[in-house]
Amino acid sequence: MDIRSWLKAATAALCGGDSPKRDAEILLGFVTGKSRSWLIAFDDTLLSAEQLTQLEALIARRAHGEPIAHLTGEREFWSLPLRVSAATLIPRPDTEILVEQALARLPAVPASLLDLGTGTGAVALALASERPDCRVTGVDRIEEAVALAQYNADRLQLTNSHFVRSDWFSALEERRFDMIVSNPPYIDAEDQHLLQGDVRFEPLSALVADDHGLADIKQIATAAPTYLKPGGWLLLEHGWQQAADVREILRQHQFLQVETCQDYGGNDRVTVG
Ligand code: GLN
Repeated sequence: MDIRSWLKAATAALCGGDSPKRDAEILLGFVTGKSRSWLIAFDDTLLSAEQLTQLEALIARRAHGEPIAHLTGEREFWSLPLRVSAATLIPRPDTEILVEQALARLPAVPASLLDLGTGTGAVALALASERPDCRVTGVDRIEEAVALAQYNADRLQLTNSHFVRSDWFSALEERRFDMIVSNPPYIDAEDQHLLQGDVRFEPLSALVADDHGLADIKQIATAAPTYLKPGGWLLLEHGWQQAADVREILRQHQFLQVETCQDYGGNDRVTVG
């Protein structure tokens, strides 16, 4: 079977999903090691029996709903290729606003940054790549996430980042950081959003929080002042309907200049203080 015929059949097989053609192209690129433009230019190339078997298995898993990032083991964030696994949240484009807002507020001089619940290391590594003069610490409660983030850091040669196992602040020294960023779990356990798409295959511990999704945000906001240098910043990602609550939580914990920023979809996404 040639590439053109395979793509047509695979797109049809994935028609129940959101992006059947794109998914088929990504999986084909993954198995053949060829770029999208190569696959389009040489679409009369025959696929080997081995490639077809491999592709068949991947298409079946995708049709069952498994995230593309889990099938390829990779996802790009802030133009950095990151290894992902089922142990962590898959980095989302929405979270790039957290990186942007952090960069906009960092002092021009070398600073010390902390990423809480780093997962793949996405946010920490994006910041480390933009500010080689800054030292970035990423923490996660899950050992496998810490190892994954460190793997990503090593692969990208971002030696100004390092990763530590810690339950939020438990393994950290006080008053060390100029900035703390986090994309914590913030979804309510009852939210219907958890029943659709990629989230079904991601760890609930990275997604769901008690207290209508605000429990971890409250815990972080309560402890953060102890770990920030005077004048330091806290930036938190949250759900689009949580902005007013998060602003109130930050104000209750001594934060000033509290404001919310929108993501590219126009939704309230990050609150800073
Ligand atoms: N924004 C993600 C989603 O809605 C959730 C991220 C999180 O809980 N930290 O799928």
